[in-house]
Amino acid sequence: MLGDTAVAVHPEDERYKGLVGKKVLLPLMEREIPIIADAVVDREFGTGAVKITPAHDPNDFEVGRRHGLPEIDVMTDDGRMSAAAGAYAGLERFDARKRVVEDLKAQGLLEKVTEHAHAIGVCERCHTVVEPRALTQWFCKMKPLAEPAISVVEKGEIKIVPPNRREEYFHWMRNIRDWCISRQLWWGHRIPAWHCADCKFITVGLETPAKCAKCGSATIEQDPDVLDTWFSSQLWPFVTLGWPEETEDLRTYYPTSVLITGYEILFFWVARMIMMGIHFTDKVPFRTVYLHSIVRTAEGLKMSKSKGTGIDPVEVNRKFGTDAMRFTLASMAAPGSDLIWTGDRIESSRNFANKIWNAARFLFLNLGKLEAGGAMLEELAGPEIRTKAPHKYSALLQLADRWIFSRLSRVIGQTNDALENCRFHEAAHVVYHFFWGDFCDWYIEWVKPELQDADRERAIATWRNLFAVFEAALRILHPIMPFLTEELWHQLPQTEGAKSIALEAFPEAKLEWTDPAAEEEFKLLQEI
Ligand SMILES: [Zn+2]
Ligand SMILES: [Zn+2]
Repeated sequence: MLGDTAVAVHPEDERYKGLVGKKVLLPLMEREIPIIADAVVDREFGTGAVKITPAHDPNDFEVGRRHGLPEIDVMTDDGRMSAAAGAYAGLERFDARKRVVEDLKAQGLLEKVTEHAHAIGVCERCHTVVEPRALTQWFCKMKPLAEPAISVVEKGEIKIVPPNRREEYFHWMRNIRDWCISRQLWWGHRIPAWHCADCKFITVGLETPAKCAKCGSATIEQDPDVLDTWFSSQLWPFVTLGWPEETEDLRTYYPTSVLITGYEILFFWVARMIMMGIHFTDKVPFRTVYLHSIVRTAEGLKMSKSKGTGIDPVEVNRKFGTDAMRFTLASMAAPGSDLIWTGDRIESSRNFANKIWNAARFLFLNLGKLEAGGAMLEELAGPEIRTKAPHKYSALLQLADRWIFSRLSRVIGQTNDALENCRFHEAAHVVYHFFWGDFCDWYIEWVKPELQDADRERAIATWRNLFAVFEAALRILHPIMPFLTEELWHQLPQTEGAKSIALEAFPEAKLEWTDPAAEEEFKLLQEI
């Protein structure tokens, strides 16, 4: 109230029509303020006449600018009343509020006190009420930056996944407003502007200037504000590669390929990286944006540490394994919908990891018996042997082998396709059903008798095919379950100096393995 500079009514409000343009006396401050007409006033609310405080309310600020009202800041940085608050100067803000009510009452000006609920801003950490104040800040002009950033997404130079987020991006960008980039915080990149004490000129520079660029005075001081954290983050795609230097990394890796982040920062971070990338490098910063979902509780709540609705992922990882966690998240990551976390899914993922581990143990255990007969692992599972798969017995490929290699090729194709299109849940499901269902439950069981076949040639061909499929399955599962697959892969013979499964080529579908007749026939057998 102490900073009020007008009373506003609706222009079509008959009750006040004759009063617009006249003046009223603001109590306590004894200041004459005008009665103005503005269409934002809600005639139904209260008396239909509303006080306007341009320096302490964003809507009133807009009204004030439309009507040329003074902006009187009645507060100080530490939440007290300023000299502009007259007799209330120096009072703590909440005390001042009580005093205002008491004084109005004492002067017989208080008609009634009513409860009134309204939205106020509070600090997200300590819940202190935030007072809006009109202050001088630094702004970045956004429209010219937004236009090319809209166009690159329209033209498909940047793909946004899932596609429904594209519209959200356009909505933000087409309604963009100038960006307030200065913050009154203690941590951040300081605004590179120096104020001259003598002529008030502001010198801006990459390097700290020695004197004012206008009057030459040495009495200059850097602006105490820091940049909005997103102002620094938006430079991330190229700053991390050495920009503004023309580094080898920048030449090689920029523009980057896929940017993965949460959909809630599509505008705050992604849009700004696109704008700044184009502005500073004339190139898009990345080709694809994958916006992942939020993990929610079984009740659909956002996981929050302060509300106690979260889970501790490290604890869950210790209990079920990191691979189980990764598999669970991937298997639920359908684009466009949030993930609902329930305990039973990770148990089933852990069971999947155990299934693979046990399958490997079964193989190595049984291999021991064959090795006793002189066959070596290298001879059955070596990298060169694997590339020659599938292996024939008596110049013939057995039905089970024709079937599993046909399935493997199909699954590899589906996995590649799913990963390329950021459908991670599909990749997880496809690999899961292949590894558990086709490979463990059917193929291993089917060929079990042949593994110890008295006909040595037959046993060896079977073992070779088994290892070839197993190794390929490890590679397609690797992005989702990296630890388990890495460990098992190293238990198989690898080429000299092979360091990691992650450095191996990702499997590609082989058309020559495709065998619809074998798949059909095997399906019939499975149905018996
Ligand atoms: Zn706070
Ligand atoms: Zn100067």
